[in-house]
Amino acid sequence: MYYGDTLLVNLDTGTTEQFSFDEVGVFGPGLAAGIGLYEKYGDADPLVIGSGLLTGTTAPASCLGFVVGKSPLTGEVAVSPLGLYAGAEVKLSGFAMIVIRGTSDKPVYLWLHDGVADIQDASALWGRDNWETTDAIRQEMGEGLIQVISAGPACEEGSRLASFSIDYWGSGDTAGLGAAMGARKLKAVALRGLGMLDPEDPEAYYEATMEMLAGSPAEPGFGRLSKGLGAGDVDGWLKPMVHRYRSCFACPAACNTFVKYNEPASVLAPDGVDEPGVMVTSAAAALWLMGGGWEAEPACRAMEAMARAGIDQVRGARELAEKPLKDPAGVAAAVSALTGSAAAGWPSSDRVGSGLFGPWVPPLGSPDEWMEAHRLGYLLGICPTYLLTSGIDRGALLGLCGPASGVELDTGRIAEMLP
Ligand code: SF4
Repeated sequence: MYYGDTLLVNLDTGTTEQFSFDEVGVFGPGLAAGIGLYEKYGDADPLVIGSGLLTGTTAPASCLGFVVGKSPLTGEVAVSPLGLYAGAEVKLSGFAMIVIRGTSDKPVYLWLHDGVADIQDASALWGRDNWETTDAIRQEMGEGLIQVISAGPACEEGSRLASFSIDYWGSGDTAGLGAAMGARKLKAVALRGLGMLDPEDPEAYYEATMEMLAGSPAEPGFGRLSKGLGAGDVDGWLKPMVHRYRSCFACPAACNTFVKYNEPASVLAPDGVDEPGVMVTSAAAALWLMGGGWEAEPACRAMEAMARAGIDQVRGARELAEKPLKDPAGVAAAVSALTGSAAAGWPSSDRVGSGLFGPWVPPLGSPDEWMEAHRLGYLLGICPTYLLTSGIDRGALLGLCGPASGVELDTGRIAEMLP
């Protein structure tokens, strides 16, 4: 279920090498291999990018990839998620896992496409926000479907709120790994590939996943999540501005909510204003702002500004929540002040969350259920939010591992792989 080799990138020398799993000697599904690789190359304090066993397949919500690295916030190894289409693109890029070591002497970005790895000059991108960076890389490579993991200005500056972004929409990087990218002068990792996956029993796999998808709830928006938390009606709060919902790869839930505030949400034509609004991808950030008494429109403007700047929307919203703002200029100034929030404030443990996974997914279910969803999700490549809100049969999900890879997994082995 992995396509291609393990890629070792050395930013000190500007070189790349490829090795088979056998040569590297680190095995395991998803995050088990990611952490194994981090430990193997731990002396170099690498960033490891990878995807789960089922990522990029027809399994429900099989969108999840990950970045493993040392969090500048805690000094501990942490994992940040690659959702939307980035995790699936990692899987299909032609590299099973990517290990990035060293520090470049000038800004660069990594361009991974169909099993080819190029280190590109990013001097012209340094200082530019995530929206500009995504557009520039797509334009340079002539391909609008490239997935861009980028380090915005807050990441370049080493802000304590830094977070890498996926395309335009921010990410669940609550561990500050975007700042770890910025410190290495790694402006972005751009991904595109047409890789083919080869399940052990393709027919059985396809049929089982179609059955699971048919039984999956397809309720768009954040409703199931806010109900699970006993939180307020975030969908109703956003509703007057909602233009459409968008799922991550293969997810029936489509919680990502595109809102328009620069033109009426009822305008369907794609040739309206250039930047009509933002896609709200962080339920936790929306809930913090709503709970703090923000009106939806300025709150969404604040989330857009954080996504552009490379600020973790969960921690940023928590900082902003207590002082609701209304006018766009005030919102922009408040987010700009967060962008430069210097590393001197690190660590502030109550704002970081704890442990390997951080607070990207709000505290749904009991702590044990939350942790189990993360373990299972990061090994298989299934979104933990989906696991916690959909009621999907986790036994059936584990049962996909046989037809996918020929290796059976059970909950005991999962706990062993990610204690
Ligand atoms: S539940 Fe939401 S965040 Fe998770 S995969 Fe589905 S659309 Fe993405």
